Amino acid sequence: MNPAFQPTREEGLARLRAFVPRAGIAYAKSRNLDRGPGDRSNVSLLSPFLRHRLIGEDEVVRAVLSKHPISAADKFVQEVCWRTYWKGWLEQRPRVWSDFLSELTQAQANAQDDSDIARGYERAINGETGIAAFDAWARELTESGYLHNHARMWFASVWIFTLKLPWTLGADFFYRHLLDGDAASNTLSWRWVAGLHTRGKHYVARAENIRQFTEGRLDPAGELDEVPEPLDGPEPPAPTRLRPPMSVTHEEDVVLLVQEDDLTPERWPVAAERVKGVVLLPPDGSYPGLSSAVLAFRAGAMDDTAARARVAFGAPVVLSLAKPSPDEAVALCRAHGVEKLVTVQVPVGPARATYESFVAELAGSGVAAVEVRRDWDSAFWPYARAGFFKVKERIPETLERLGLL
Ligand SMILES: Cc1cc2nc3c(=O)[nH]c(=O)nc-3n(C[C@H](O)[C@H](O)[C@H](O)COP(=O)(O)OP(=O)(O)OC[C@H]3O[C@@H](n4cnc5c(N)ncnc54)[C@H](O)[C@@H]3O)c2cc1C
Repeated sequence: MNPAFQPTREEGLARLRAFVPRAGIAYAKSRNLDRGPGDRSNVSLLSPFLRHRLIGEDEVVRAVLSKHPISAADKFVQEVCWRTYWKGWLEQRPRVWSDFLSELTQAQANAQDDSDIARGYERAINGETGIAAFDAWARELTESGYLHNHARMWFASVWIFTLKLPWTLGADFFYRHLLDGDAASNTLSWRWVAGLHTRGKHYVARAENIRQFTEGRLDPAGELDEVPEPLDGPEPPAPTRLRPPMSVTHEEDVVLLVQEDDLTPERWPVAAERVKGVVLLPPDGSYPGLSSAVLAFRAGAMDDTAARARVAFGAPVVLSLAKPSPDEAVALCRAHGVEKLVTVQVPVGPARATYESFVAELAGSGVAAVEVRRDWDSAFWPYARAGFFKVKERIPETLERLGLL
């Protein structure tokens, strides 16, 4: 386990407290510098905790705005909102995720048949391309489970435009090794780099930019294709309507169903005294090939969540399921006369697929699945239908509405 990322809420909150003094002008000025794995003091390293909602976006923004005016912290708040934008955008275009999975399967099959692609892919993921900068990022990713944002952009760009490897294979490599690996942020960022998100606008990594923002640590002068064409692909599908959120009254007893995308049930919009039990779905194994570090982070985060749930809800039954099958959850509900199994909205991605098959098996059990939505998501997601700008321009008024500004 990377010692920088102990998978607990306490660790996430401690990291947040330590970072808050640096989240203002200092972050805006220095966040783009990738000083290497030995010095990450210019960024927060909060992403694995936000990814699993061991801490919430609202908590992060509240803490930062308690110490900085929005005028100083706007860059940091915007970056947090990029995460929200990607989540909301994918939520309204679930097909982009299923298309990604099909294209990935196809690219994997092609790589089996084409020894050039297979060799290029193996060299890339093992850090043996001969492009020293790229090879250093590949090794950093597999060794630490983290890459700086700028390095992620450079890496994806070199993968697609210089090494000419299929973008889906690169997105899959990231997803399997990043401790913050996220269906929305990762897939859509790769699409953005490729020029598929805003069609025709791709991100081109340039040696001079890499030299400058690594302060001379890395310099791939003459090694990159700096005048590539963007990838060609269809327009993204039109946005669908968001599923309307459901609600539970404070008069109903409930059992909570926790899954790895939101691991702070003690902060869900349900009355704690009505919680008769908590059921934890196993960390998602449905995405093949997750690294051992990712699996260990997720398993640790689930254990931490089970421990917190015991305390937060007055020690009701907490069940950690070994497989995502509902029999034990239904038995628990029946034992307490509970008819609703409540979760917060499970976003598009591997955990959604697991959740949907779990819910399908509830049919006829007398127990209904209810998905409530967090205020943060309800407030921002409706703006995430086109470009980021629509979210960005609504940040101040939305934070005000949420009581954060
Ligand atoms: C190709 C590519 C793949 C990426 N894959 C992921 C991923 O799987 N999971 C993931 O969480 N982020 C992903 N990002 C976004 C970003 O690189 C990371 O969130 C960020 O580097 C995490 O480091 P930090 O916590 O120190 O960020 P900070 O700079 O401290 O930012 C604070 C928080 O804001 C959010 N954030 C910051 N930048 C972005 C961004 N560009 N997009 C979305 N959210 C952002 C993160 O939750 C982050 O923890 C990807 C970016 C690229 C270019």
